[in-house]
Amino acid sequence: MSDHNDCIFCMISRGAAPSHRLGEDQHTLSIMDIFPVAPGHSLVITKEHYENIFEVPPEVLAAVARASRRLALAIRSELKPAGIGLFQLNGSAAGQTVFHYHQHLIPRAAGDALKLHTRVPGVDEELRAISVRLAEQLAAVS
Ligand code: AMP
Ligand code: ZN
Repeated sequence: MSDHNDCIFCMISRGAAPSHRLGEDQHTLSIMDIFPVAPGHSLVITKEHYENIFEVPPEVLAAVARASRRLALAIRSELKPAGIGLFQLNGSAAGQTVFHYHQHLIPRAAGDALKLHTRVPGVDEELRAISVRLAEQLAAVS
């Protein structure tokens, strides 16, 4: 597995940095975003290091899509948001801040402002509590 020592998502992927894990498959790991723009903001990251859409192989991209669909279903079942936004950024000009491929899933409320990032960290205990609920739902989604 390619391993970038100073990449936070590589560290999470190999268990060298903490995360609230929701589920995984051969190519992906789903975790809570620690700076959530909404409760339930989560990420599907690739297990291996690919910087962006231009580097990620098609079969891994397909795995991210499958994992995102499953996680969206789990979020809908458990949190019942009015909507769910998926987004993915490539390059700092586009707003990418972690240069390891990942897909955001963001629960949305009717009329809320579209926000891609926040500087306010989530409360760890709240992230943990939501992660337990989502992980349980996710395990039940095929
Ligand atoms: P992007 O700007 O699309 O590259 O998104 C990177 C996301 O990763 C941001 O929403 C950050 O809040 C999130 N993030 C950064 N560090 C961590 C971490 N250690 N665990 C979980 N999420 C993180
Ligand atoms: Zn990485």
